[in-house]
Amino acid sequence: MKNIYKHGNRTKKEIALTFDDGPEMIWTEAILSILEKFNVLATFFLIGEKIDTFPKIVRKINDAGHEIGNHGYSHKSLRFCSYKKIGKEILKTEESLQKLAIQTKLFRPAYQRWNPILLKMLSRSSKKMILSDVVPKDFCAKTSDEIVQKILQKTRNGSIIILHDGGGDRKKTVQALEKIIFQLQKRGFHFVTVSELLG
Ligand SMILES: [Zn+2]
Repeated sequence: MKNIYKHGNRTKKEIALTFDDGPEMIWTEAILSILEKFNVLATFFLIGEKIDTFPKIVRKINDAGHEIGNHGYSHKSLRFCSYKKIGKEILKTEESLQKLAIQTKLFRPAYQRWNPILLKMLSRSSKKMILSDVVPKDFCAKTSDEIVQKILQKTRNGSIIILHDGGGDRKKTVQALEKIIFQLQKRGFHFVTVSELLG
């Protein structure tokens, strides 16, 4: 469907790492350090409420050259929400980002749930709805290796991978990240931001 993106170009060895549900103190910081170590750029879909709570971390993400996307203000599922409510979730997050002089054309709905009202609203303001084709469910993985294995199995050219830097204990995600980057780079993949991936 137009304006919904689950992946990028299947003929290029480019992929995008995305992190949802942040920013958070410990986990976002830990992830930023690993990304810096490997010189990899990622995309962070941030929750508006948390942008207001941790603006310094948002600045740090932005200053490091990563891309920032809108993940709604309160992380509510928007599937059954009205025009007014959806608009508020998008706009309030935009306002929080604007205070930090950050703009984004990317939106990822909480739980990847959406409805035609949301899609229409995004299209009207030339925003893209970003879903994903690699969902390792790191938030319920039993071990960090489980996360690594799921990603290695599913990732192919153009993949958009979802991990989480917020919403709970993300130790396993952090532990998995070095292996994920190392193994995927070994397979010849280049990490790019979502906007780069979608060209
Ligand atoms: Zn989320």
